[in-house]
Amino acid sequence: MKRWFCLFVFLFSSTFACAQTLPGYNPTETATPGDSARQLGGPVAAPTTATLTDTVDSVYPITPERRALVNQYSTLRLVWEVIVEVFDWIVMLVVAFTGLSALLLKLASRVTRRRAVHFVVYLFLFFLLIGIISFPITYYQNYVIEHQFGFSNQTFGQWFGDQLKEFPVMLFFMTIMFGFFYFLIRRYPRRWWLWFSAGAVPFVVAVLVIVPVVVSPMFNDFQPLKDKQLETQILNLASKAGIEGSRVFEVDASRQSTHLNAYVTGLFGTKRIVLYDTIIKAFSTDELLFVMGHEMGHYVKHHIWIIVGMIVVLILISTWLMALILPKVITRHGRRLGFAEMGSYASLPLVLLAFGLVMFVVQPATNCLSRYFEDRCDIYSMEITGYNNTAATVAFEKLAAYNLSDPNPSRLVEIWFYDHPALQKRIDRVNSLIEQ
Ligand SMILES: [Zn+2]
Repeated sequence: MKRWFCLFVFLFSSTFACAQTLPGYNPTETATPGDSARQLGGPVAAPTTATLTDTVDSVYPITPERRALVNQYSTLRLVWEVIVEVFDWIVMLVVAFTGLSALLLKLASRVTRRRAVHFVVYLFLFFLLIGIISFPITYYQNYVIEHQFGFSNQTFGQWFGDQLKEFPVMLFFMTIMFGFFYFLIRRYPRRWWLWFSAGAVPFVVAVLVIVPVVVSPMFNDFQPLKDKQLETQILNLASKAGIEGSRVFEVDASRQSTHLNAYVTGLFGTKRIVLYDTIIKAFSTDELLFVMGHEMGHYVKHHIWIIVGMIVVLILISTWLMALILPKVITRHGRRLGFAEMGSYASLPLVLLAFGLVMFVVQPATNCLSRYFEDRCDIYSMEITGYNNTAATVAFEKLAAYNLSDPNPSRLVEIWFYDHPALQKRIDRVNSLIEQ
């Protein structure tokens, strides 16, 4: 189910993912594999050696055994990212072309006579069906693999509970977004895509304002930093960057996983920098200050607003293409689909498929922009923290070691899947600043 939340968030996922400013794990990003010589889909042995539950020393400096784990894990994550993507497209095609989607809409109309409620019931049934179909793949990708490599801290019950909690949240946002979408198609059959793109601006902004204070706290606890000495140092850095200190939070991410991360999110009054408790534990003060300097770069350079602009452009392109192509597909295959026009709610799987395909195709461009921002923020952090390249280098090396991120992916993999520059490039970059 998480993926469908992500697909909804696909409109916003760039925002979250890009805001997720450290390399390695994040749910919408691949922690990604390595050498092009290694074949995708090749056999991946189950890990037998150290995991993050071991002592800090066994994780960093990285041992040859752990280096092997980096290769296994990053390959596995990339392979599964591709599998899941393709699987999602196939599911959407099947649900649409077998008439299942039309059947769900028919069922929804039997539940109630009120047309406005049809859509909500249909959405509920649709996402329930998708959730059930993709459960095995979601379970393997997000639970089994994460346990195999010692990342997940959750029992099956806790993990499944989080999935269940996401369901109504997703349904809520989907209802508003696609309710508006279908309203416009019916009201303005020719120019709906323009109106929808314009309406997406306040919607994206509202989501960004709401999510950090309403949705995220449903899954984790956000508090001021516990380490007061560290907090003072971060506040000093923040005031240097012109940021109010109260915008820095510590989250108990270790409740779910041992991955390390930090990110910037929110807009207006909810704009904030969030540090995972896991990274606070694993990093020295200087390394954390480098990370914070990087996050502050995103913050002061208003990257979230630029991403909002990018999302709206992507929505404009996707919906324009949809308006151009989907009506023709529906006219041609109306009998098999079980509906005759795009204004039917049953066209949702085709709409989601179209969004998904466009996002996949433009991914190299969006990732390229994201990598550019990340690079700028590494430079910003070096400036603001006094060019401490040792701390920066160790921070990147630790990220690779703890998150099992491949520091040297192949060029193609980096172009298509990495929204951060590869770690080795980031290390080279910070060290090149010293040499200049
Ligand atoms: Zn960043």
